[in-house]
Parts: sequence; structure tokens; C-alpha cells
Amino acid sequence: MSKQKMLKFTDVPRLMPEKRTAEARREDFNEIYREYADEKAAEQASRCSQCGVPYCQSHCPLHNNIPDWLKLTAEGRLQEAYQMSQATNTFPEICGRICPQDRLCEGNCVIEQSGHGTVTIGSVEKYITDTAWEEGWVEPIRPHAERPESVGIIGAGPGGLAAADMLRRAGVQVTVYDRYDRAGGLLTYGIPGFKLEKPVVMRRNKQFEEGGVQFVLNCNVGEDISFAEIREKHDAVLIATGVYKSRDLGGPGAGLPGIVRALDFLTASNRKSFGDEVPEFDSGELNAKDKRVVVIGGGDTAMDCVRTAIRQGATSVKCLYRRDRANMPGSQREVQNAEEEGVEFVWLSAPKGFTGDDAVTGVKVVKMRLGAPDATGRQFPEEIPGSEYTEDADIVIKALGFEPEALPSLWNTPELEVTRWGTVKAKFNTHETDLPGVYAVGDIVRGASLVVWAIRDGREAAEAMLAKFNEASASVAAE
Ligand code: FAD
Ligand code: SF4
Ligand code: SF4
Repeated sequence: MSKQKMLKFTDVPRLMPEKRTAEARREDFNEIYREYADEKAAEQASRCSQCGVPYCQSHCPLHNNIPDWLKLTAEGRLQEAYQMSQATNTFPEICGRICPQDRLCEGNCVIEQSGHGTVTIGSVEKYITDTAWEEGWVEPIRPHAERPESVGIIGAGPGGLAAADMLRRAGVQVTVYDRYDRAGGLLTYGIPGFKLEKPVVMRRNKQFEEGGVQFVLNCNVGEDISFAEIREKHDAVLIATGVYKSRDLGGPGAGLPGIVRALDFLTASNRKSFGDEVPEFDSGELNAKDKRVVVIGGGDTAMDCVRTAIRQGATSVKCLYRRDRANMPGSQREVQNAEEEGVEFVWLSAPKGFTGDDAVTGVKVVKMRLGAPDATGRQFPEEIPGSEYTEDADIVIKALGFEPEALPSLWNTPELEVTRWGTVKAKFNTHETDLPGVYAVGDIVRGASLVVWAIRDGREAAEAMLAKFNEASASVAAE
């Protein structure tokens, strides 16, 4: 392979795919970045310096072989680039869109560290796999031989589906149970279309269905079928249920109508995008149109809510966060996108209660300052006495994070061990729980995390299950 194709970072500046104008973005739920033109993707990939020790790769949770697929892209060998990229990642086109690259692969790229601007790894990854879908290079799931073992997966989010994919490719009989009517978990109903267009997720769901993965949808485990029944039906079970209990706010007026949970708001909006009937949206309860919106929180869920409210036609959208911009958990790239679209950030501000009689009319706010660092090293926000004021609002969206549901009691399985935070205890590498044949992955183990970590967990759990199945069949054969 020709060396000159690479190491162009000193001559070629970093260039993201073109971003649609903020005015155009406010009008719809389509993704905000356009696709690279072929030559631009190759040019951007050619900026990679082909590091001997690629920090991008070690900071990618999937340890994607980034330098090699960048090189193949730069050389125009896209089909090979795709083959390499999909070997380690179940959903490269999804990670390319929604991984917080600035904290993972790109944030650790050596040319970023040397001040030249990171290689746009995520955008190239998305480009490679989108092209593969367009060109028909994405092959259907066709196991070489069927296996007798059967696995029940509870939760059709990225963790459960990554495991389903690997198991099915190996010929295992896979059934995925989910309480929603569509597979995809938060990819389908949490993350808005302007970050991840829904046909991208549905196309994968179809691929799994056509590959023989059985989906049992609208099935709430613990209500429609018991956990014990699922264990009886399958040789192994994977818990991949995510975290859905919203953290709440107290204070006077906290129960007023018009104060809603982030995930209810986002799910209603995503359902509308699918063309579903959503009475709570049509009634205005979960619709920001013509309203003054206040979102409370500083994470990525809060960013998704403010940007959804803008697209729904809110008259104003403010985001209240108790720390400052530098100390917020959400991605800076998303804050910038939100600001461009017209969101106002009210930093160092915390809610103390709500005004209103029959419905919320405002948030009582107290201003904060950052004090001494706490045990984690983060500066602790303190109230500034006498700084209270009211922020007017017709709808208040609580985006304060998520906690696990109490699975042992919901599933009548007290023997399922959980941590003091309620997350399921599972072995670090194999993802086995203390219950024989039961594995757990993704947010229900890690707490609210990232898609890419759920994918990694799901793939590792599938490998561990396959190893167990192979061991068992080898010992039967030896008898
Ligand atoms: P989930 O995706 O939550 O899937 C769990 C599935 O289990 C769901 O379909 C649920 O219906 C099902 N389920 C739960 N309980 C039951 C039951 N009892 N019976 C049957 N089915 C059940 N991460 C990123 O990397 N990038 C982002 O940009 C990003 N944005 C986000 C935006 C929002 C609004 C939210 C909430 C999260 C975001 N995340 C993002 C985090 C990411 O979505 C999660 O980390 C990831 O989806 C976790 O995958 P999972 O498979 O563990 O669970
Ligand atoms: Fe980067 Fe995520 Fe792709 Fe890994 S999976 S290379 S972290 S965008
Ligand atoms: Fe290329 Fe950056 Fe990875 Fe080095 S760290 S191999 S320059 S993408």
C-alpha cells in the first residue's frame, strides 16, 4: 500500500461533513450533518498519521481497528474498509453518528493532541457503513449451521441486539423480548431523529428479523411473562433492560401539571415521527408548540429535550443547569448545536420549587456558585443567598438522569444480586450474574452509559455464552 496516501494532517485541515443551517434544522427532525462526498471522506481519512500505538483504538470501547480502516478509505478500498469496521462493531453507522467521539476515539487522537485537529473518525465510520448499505455490501445474517441452544434476551436495545446478532450468526436460536412495540430501545424511542434518523435503526431491526431473530414485542417481562418462565424456556438468558426510573425533583409545586419527564417527552416526539397516534402529544401535554419551555439538567438527555422543543415550535427554550458550562456532563458539541438552534443556557442555576395553581407557570430559581471540590474532585455548587427569582414556563422538563428499576422485586427474583445503586451485578468479562445461565449487559449493569459500551457488553456476553455452549457440547461428545 502506498505510504503517501496518509499523514496528510499538516496539509489537509480537519473538516466535518457539512452542517445544515440552524434555520433549516429547526424545521424538521432530520439529522443535522450531511454525508461526506466520496473524495472528502478519502481526504479526511488520509489525515491519519498511522500511529504505531493508536490511542484512538485503545480509547474506543470496541477497540475498532481505526488506523487500518482509515487507510483503506483513503485508498478508495471502501468495501474492505467496511469489512474491517463491521468485524468489531455491530452498529458502526450508529456509533459513527452518536458516540461522544470527543471523549473517546477522537479526543485521544495524537494529531488532536499535537494541535492539528483530530481525524474525523466518527464521520468516516458512518460514511463507510452508510455506503455499504447503499452498495448492498451489508450481508444478511445466514448461519452456516443451526445450533440446538436457545437464548432469551430481555431488552431490544443496543446491548441485547449486539448479543442477538453474534449468537444468531453462530446459529443459536434467539428470542428477544421487549415491552415496547418496536425494537431498538433508546435508539428507537430515546435518541431524537436529528442525531439518529429512525430508518437507520429500523433497517437493522429488519436485518435481525430476516436473519431469524425472533422478536416478542409488547411483552413486559414481569407482567406478561415471568422471568422464571423465560429461564425455563431457554438455555441462557440475557438481561439487557436499560435504566428507566427517572430521577425526580422535590420542592413546592413539584407535582403540578406541566412538569414532565424527559423520556416521556422524547418518546412522544419519536412516536410522532413514526406517525403513531400519541394522545398526550395531541392534547399538548407532551408538546412544546407555542410554549415557554424550561429544561432542568445538563446532560445529553437535557440537550436532546431542548433541541426537540425548538423543533416542535416552542416560543422560548431555556436550559437550567446548576454548574457552569465547563462543568456540565453533556457534550460541548451538542451545547453548541443547541445554541445555534436558539436555546438559551442559564448556567449556575438550580430549581427550588415551582409556581402555578392548576398548572405550572414558572420555576423558582436560585443562583449558584462553585465551591470546594467534593470527593470526586468536582466543585460543589452552593446557593447564593438572596439570589432567587422566577423563570416563566408553560412546560418544565425534568432531565436529571435515570436509575434502574428494582428488578429483583419486579421479577419476583430476590436471588438476582444487585448493587447498592440497584444495577445488576455481573462479572466484568463474561457478564454472568450469580444466577446460573443468566447474563446481564448495558445500562442495567453500568448505570446510564453509552450505546458503544452496551454494544461491547452484548458482544462479550454472546462470546461467553458460545464458549459455554461449546464446552457443554464437547463434554457431551466426549462421554
Ligand atoms: P436500552 O437502550 O435502554 O434498551 C433496553 C430495552 O429493554 C428497551 O427497549 C426496554 O423497552 C426494554 N425493557 C426494559 N424493561 C423491560 C421489561 N421488563 N420487559 C421487556 N423489555 C424491557 N448514548 C450514546 O452513546 N450517544 C448518545 O447520543 C446518547 N443519547 C442519549 C439520549 C437519551 C435521551 C438517552 C436517554 C440516552 C442516550 N444515550 C446515548 C445512552 C444510550 O442510549 C444507552 O446507554 C443505551 O441505549 C443502553 O443500551 P441498553 O441496551 O443497555 O438499554
Ligand atoms: Fe469512535 Fe465510537 Fe466508532 Fe469507537 S465506535 S471508533 S468510539 S465513534
Ligand atoms: Fe490516526 Fe489519530 Fe488514530 Fe493516530 S490516533 S492512528 S492519527 S486516528
